[in-house]
Formats: sequence, C-alpha cells, structure tokens
Amino acid sequence: MSRLRFFPLLFALVFVPVLAGAVTTFEIFEASTLNQVVKRNKLIVGMEVKFFPFEYSDTRGEPVGVDVDLARLAAKELGVEIEIKDMEFSGLIPALQGGKIDMIISGMTRTLARAKTVTFTKPYFETGLCALVSNKKAPDLTRVSQLNDPRRVIAVKLGTTGDIVASKLFPKARLNRYKEETACVLDVVAGRADAFFYDQLSIAKHHRQNPGTTHAILKPFTYEPYAIAIRSGDFVFLNWLNQFLETIKADGRYERLHHEYFGDLPQREKTRDPD
Ligand code: GLN
Repeated sequence: MSRLRFFPLLFALVFVPVLAGAVTTFEIFEASTLNQVVKRNKLIVGMEVKFFPFEYSDTRGEPVGVDVDLARLAAKELGVEIEIKDMEFSGLIPALQGGKIDMIISGMTRTLARAKTVTFTKPYFETGLCALVSNKKAPDLTRVSQLNDPRRVIAVKLGTTGDIVASKLFPKARLNRYKEETACVLDVVAGRADAFFYDQLSIAKHHRQNPGTTHAILKPFTYEPYAIAIRSGDFVFLNWLNQFLETIKADGRYERLHHEYFGDLPQREKTRDPD
C-alpha cells in the first residue's frame, strides 16, 4: 500500500477517534484493573475474614476458606502475588471504589441495588437467607412470615442482605442491627430477639452450636447468588474473571474446592429476589 493510499485509513483509525475524544481499546485495556494487577505483580483482595466457611482464620490466624482459595487460584492464573485485606463487610464496597482493593470476594450476594455501584461477575455459589429462632422468645415460630408483627424483633448484621431484606419484607417488626454476627446470635440465644436472618450455612452452624436455646428455619426465603465485585464498568477485568470462573468449573478445580469445604449441602428450595 502506498503512503498516499494508507493515509485515509490512518486518519480514520487514529486521528478521527482522537479528535473526537474517543477512548481507544488500548486505553481501555491500559486502565483496566487486569492490566494494573499484572503490572504491579499483585492482586489485592478485600474480604471480611469472619464468614465461615467462605473466609475465616485457621489456628495460626491465616485466612482460609472457599473465597480465599478462589482468590489464590485467580492470582495463580494471573501469575501474580496475592494480598488479602481484611475489613468490615460494610467497608468493602467503599474500599473498592476508593481503589484500595482490586476486587471483593466475601460471600457477597449479587443484588441489583449493589450492582448500581459495583460490577459483579457471574455467580460462583447460590444460597439463600434463613432464620435462627429463639426458643425463649419465639418457641411457636415456624414460618418467617410470622415475624411481620410489631411485637417481634429481628437481629441482623449491618449492611448484609439480612439487614436489607428484613426492613423490606417485614416492615412491622423491630430491628436490632449489629456489626458483629456473634451479637446477633447472642440476642437470639438470650431471648432479646425472635430471630436472626443470615445466609443458610451460617444459620445451620449457629443452630448446631446452640441446640438447646434455638431452632432454625433452614428453608431459604431469598435467593442469594455470591459473586466477585469489581469497580463499575471494568469490562476487561470482568471478562477475565468470568472466564476464570468458567474454566475452574469446567476443569474440576471448583468442584474439589466445593467438596473440601462443604461436603454435602442442603439444597436451596425456594427463592425470592432480595431487591
Ligand atoms: N451474603 C450476605 C451479603 O452479601 C452476607 C455476606 C457476609 O456477611 N460476608 O450481605
């Protein structure tokens, strides 16, 4: 191609977009978290290391769990180091938006409300909210719908879907909102609250640990798909993470992880959107 014939093509591909202020695909890639992570040789992951069996501390105080292993696998596939930043659940999205972490993986439910501020991958786990019920304050309670009553008290962990759903679906009940999951359980055990709303595996664990003082409604009343959250609009990183999840599901690595931490799980029976 002669230089003269090449010029209109060059003009169309380079000068027109630049003059129009358009962003090139190269610039989009440059700005993506994927590129930044590879360049700095480190993936910085935010989670609240207090949500068994997704992220918790082992006997040496090291973070372990499904999400921790997923994050480690992602870092390995990217060929970079990993740093885990442990922070309060309600601080995770602000930390992501502020650029302090590259992604959140923390048993976080992908909701439409949260998706207005962050971008979520495809779900990697599906569960639902259940209820831990007080034998002292609510011995008669068998259905969550009975909680929509001004005499009832629901304990919830601040900023979680349990918190969001309780005020939406049970507006007549009073809410006790705590930063700590253990404070919610204590409320139920002591009979200050009728019930505590949280994700199914946690409720099952708390009931096992408090068999005399609690009973549990283990049929989920919401649909909770867990997903990885990244900064809004970073479709380069989103694409990589979705492909990563697809790959480890297809090659058996996800199943091995599932088996290691869950064994046999109770199945989700009924769903309702938390938004
Ligand atoms: N899945 C719940 C939520 O997204 C709780 C998660 C958690 O406490 N780590 O709100």
